[in-house]
Amino acid sequence: MASVVETYLHRIQSACTPMDAGTLADYIPQLAAVDPDRFGVSVVVHDGHVYSVGDSTIEFTIQSISKALTYALALRERGFDDVDAQIGVEPSGEAFNEISVDHRTRRPRNPMINAGAITATALLLQRPHDDEGTRDDSGTAVDEAFALILEFYSGCAGRHLTMDDEVYRSEMATGSRNRAIAYMLESFGVFPSDPEAAVDLYVRQCSVTVTSDDLAAIGSTLANGGVNPRTGRRMLDTAVTRRVLSVMTTCGMYDGAGDWVTTVGLPAKSGVGGGILAVLPGQLGIGVYSPRLDEHGNSVRGVEACRHLSDDLGLHMFNVA
Ligand code: GLU
Repeated sequence: MASVVETYLHRIQSACTPMDAGTLADYIPQLAAVDPDRFGVSVVVHDGHVYSVGDSTIEFTIQSISKALTYALALRERGFDDVDAQIGVEPSGEAFNEISVDHRTRRPRNPMINAGAITATALLLQRPHDDEGTRDDSGTAVDEAFALILEFYSGCAGRHLTMDDEVYRSEMATGSRNRAIAYMLESFGVFPSDPEAAVDLYVRQCSVTVTSDDLAAIGSTLANGGVNPRTGRRMLDTAVTRRVLSVMTTCGMYDGAGDWVTTVGLPAKSGVGGGILAVLPGQLGIGVYSPRLDEHGNSVRGVEACRHLSDDLGLHMFNVA
């Protein structure tokens, strides 16, 4: 028998399913070829229980949602000082792939735009104890760093995740803009690794496949201060978790972040694959998958489903009882 929560999620599903506005990402053929009507909604609560409806076990590429996770991993592996020296925490209000940096500091404005995300992958490639600043940008370094990323994402999700090789190859073949961003950052003289290696690692992480159940599980790990509630495994400390949730709140929803915070009021990150991961700190993780995107690049039904959840359950973080 369906639980009260599942019955409620079915109601949200029925309310949002008629929404067929928006378009699929089409900058690579693999994203343009997905079934636009797929729709999954998942919630993982504080004891790790998963509630889901619809296409909650269909895999899609994580894309930009990876930015929040790799930023967390870079903070964990490199510490706040090293990461903050390279990546700011100010919302940019610009498109995710804008070739932009803070004019004064010459750092990417935040880790949720491509410039900041590619710098986060470069930090994972830089050998931390190398006083000479010597780089190791060999294929092995990228492989090792990607193994660490995959292990981290998998630990947060509570199951072994993999990469979609076709999406990876397609993104690499069309990645001029990301290369341009990486080379621009390198031209400033303090980029932590070889630009090509950083872009390769970034594209691999964007090509990791997840389900809405996975996104909700990852969200619940962040909600739970960095401990996966299903496995009990600590993936992040509370200071890193707090930082990541803060940046997700201000910068996570592309240039629609202000609208999102005022209406939904939850830290979140979306990706052009159609996923949204949202977090109610201390309580739960939400994962939604529906691939039609609005003008900002956010899933149309995903935003609407989160709006319903937030309104109906009073989840907005600034609700005063
Ligand atoms: N792989 C995409 C890019 O960086 C990710 C886009 C996104 O989800 O925003 O171009």
